[in-house]
Amino acid sequence: MSAYLLPGQPHFERRGADLFAEGVRLSDLARQYGTPLFVYSKASMLDALGAYQRGFAGRKARIHYAMKANSSLAVLQVFAQAGCGFDIVSGGELERALAAGARPADIIFSGVGKTRAEMQQALAIGIGCFNVESEAELEVLSQVACAAGKTAQVSIRVNPNVDPKTHPYISTGLKGNKFGVAHERTLQTYKRAASLPGLQVAGIDCHIGSQITENGPYLDAMDRVLDLVQAIEAAGIPLRHIDFGGGLGINYSGVQPPAADALWAQLFAKLDARGFGDRQFMIEPGRSLVGNAGVCLTEVLYMKPGEQKNFCIIDAAMNDLPRPAMYQAFHEIVPVNAREGATLLCDVVGPVCESGDWIGHDRALNTHAGDLLAVMSAGAYCMSMASNYNTRGRAAEVLVDGGKATLIRERESAGDQMLRERLVP
Ligand SMILES: *Cc1c(COP(=O)(O)O)cnc(C)c1O
Repeated sequence: MSAYLLPGQPHFERRGADLFAEGVRLSDLARQYGTPLFVYSKASMLDALGAYQRGFAGRKARIHYAMKANSSLAVLQVFAQAGCGFDIVSGGELERALAAGARPADIIFSGVGKTRAEMQQALAIGIGCFNVESEAELEVLSQVACAAGKTAQVSIRVNPNVDPKTHPYISTGLKGNKFGVAHERTLQTYKRAASLPGLQVAGIDCHIGSQITENGPYLDAMDRVLDLVQAIEAAGIPLRHIDFGGGLGINYSGVQPPAADALWAQLFAKLDARGFGDRQFMIEPGRSLVGNAGVCLTEVLYMKPGEQKNFCIIDAAMNDLPRPAMYQAFHEIVPVNAREGATLLCDVVGPVCESGDWIGHDRALNTHAGDLLAVMSAGAYCMSMASNYNTRGRAAEVLVDGGKATLIRERESAGDQMLRERLVP
């Protein structure tokens, strides 16, 4: 017997009662490495990347993985080996990308608050492009580049003012957001960039939000960006590339976002119609490459029945899986070894001393203390957002490739956490 769990996670499969990642039984991994444990499927990541690659076949396009979604070294290594570049948002991410084997020229640097030190570091290494988010940042980058005797390649992140129809905390392309340069100020900002020493205008970029589940916002944003490209080039500033950001959603709860290849077929139809089909494109997907490639295994510590609610207390918490507390996000939660019998409606919660420390509300589960649960779709914005709150060590991570499982991050100890601290003598 074999049945897929979720349409988006075909590499996580139940065989009989037991859940597998590719060819590996998840309960075996939990026994060997303990819980909470993140398990990633390499085939899943490569499948997700493949959908973009199919969408870009025959086009001039480059994929820069937005590594803040999951910046574990072995995950970066998978994408570097598959030919991806990286979209970074800090000097720390730059060091990680290089440690995982990225070529400097394949790195682009996004973010509203780059420091001078980060600019110096990125220029010295020779990254491909800076995605600049304000006129003030252009001035500083120009100064830093001149002082270093370098030329910075720049793209300006424009804010197309379209509603991505997602959670407000992950909308980034609306007027009230801190991100990007307002549509109306874009031309002026490009003229400024073209006039500053130490800068070379390379392209234009936008990123309208995250967990986008419809085509409409992308098509609208593309139109807005192309209008700007025409205006900027008409002013005598040529643009070598158009970077369309990331943001494509994944299936967490049954809502199926468009497939990357289907979305790009629509976007290229528009681009061709407007005469831009042969341009150099770049994209910066994060979540859609890794989100459904990971699960978090956790042990049920206690069942706590109550008058109003039943609680299922697990050994993973908001420090491991921050999305529910931050965005009221939904993760599917399933038993690793299915039991026969009736389910009980319960709130699945962690041990952290916060009422916000919940992982799932009102879930129908048949589970007992000592059982293992899998929190699904945990490949993106989980480990990379994990904290040490309550002096909880960050979880271990395993990468599965076919029948082989590799420990890619050891569980963090209390000693690791205290390493940089000092008592007052
Ligand atoms: C976070 C981010 C991305 C990736 O977003 P996803 O929703 O994970 O695809 C891409 N570009 C920029 C500038 C970002 O900040």
